[in-house]
Amino acid sequence: MTQRANEGGAAFPFAAARFKVSADVRAGLQAERRSIAGAKTRERSLIQIGVDFGGTKIEAAAIGPDGGVLARPRAPNPGGYEAAIRTVCELVAQAEQAAGGRGTIGVGAPGSISPRTGVVRNANTTWLNGRHFREDLEAALARPVRVANDANCLALSEAVDGAAAGARVTFGVIIGTGCGGGLAIDGQVVEGANGVSGEWGHMPLPWLEADEYPGPECWCGRRGCLETFVSGTGFARDHAARTGRKMTGEAIIEAARQGDAAAALTFERYIDRLGRALAVVCDILDPDVFVFGGGLSNVGELYERLPAAIAPHVFSDSWTAKLAPARWGDSSGVRGAARLWPQSAASG
Ligand SMILES: [Zn+2]
Repeated sequence: MTQRANEGGAAFPFAAARFKVSADVRAGLQAERRSIAGAKTRERSLIQIGVDFGGTKIEAAAIGPDGGVLARPRAPNPGGYEAAIRTVCELVAQAEQAAGGRGTIGVGAPGSISPRTGVVRNANTTWLNGRHFREDLEAALARPVRVANDANCLALSEAVDGAAAGARVTFGVIIGTGCGGGLAIDGQVVEGANGVSGEWGHMPLPWLEADEYPGPECWCGRRGCLETFVSGTGFARDHAARTGRKMTGEAIIEAARQGDAAAALTFERYIDRLGRALAVVCDILDPDVFVFGGGLSNVGELYERLPAAIAPHVFSDSWTAKLAPARWGDSSGVRGAARLWPQSAASG
């Protein structure tokens, strides 16, 4: 355990503590219990627990042997490291109680764990950076834990039984508050020699126009990263910079649909930039399937417009790939995290 601290007088390790269940967790659980009546009679083994560790929300899911979700408790992220670890423990306990067994635990989180130092880096939930997140979770949960980047979990989930089922190369794209990429090949996450495979959001926008250089400042310390252009935040920032109007991404899309010319132009620029950014991925990995998660992945026009924005930039006489929203939507992160362990590793 590193950088341990007391919060509200609670002491580590968490595993021995009895947790006060928040109203949110209780409400989520009650809903799950209604939908999973009888889960306790299921086979006690082969339960895979996934945890989606988001900056604002933490969610757990217990996946049974048939791929069905047996429980899905969630809670707000308390916004501090020790408290967040306690929330993870609480949610895992809830999920296992509802599922009627002990499971393997995989966690999807922003950023990645450095194979060299063992600590989190590159997380936009910046208080995770520098922490021994996996070791601290293992101590708190008293078992081995696998941790992977949240976009890798999206790619894995969709490659196992989602929009990319059966695909050779799957690239997961998260376009929400931030922007991330993840890679699965033959149904397995590829983390890379340095653990940074798929870290696509913090490379520069390719084939720059004059007004795109040097680009906005990024939280990572550089300027002009893809994230500053193609995340939902970047989309809204671009619209505000051009029009002086601060609107949410959803509101801009809706305005464009209603015929607002400035909003339509913002969407044009967005598609063009995302197309260029994905063409680079095609030249390196040539994915069979791109799966999209995050708030902007719900915009249907994306899938109509993107192929024509990608194709001219790919170094090929022709280009085709499947582009689809995540089949499991917001659940893909938690499902992919559960799949970080093979089902054969789960035991009751
Ligand atoms: Zn950056």
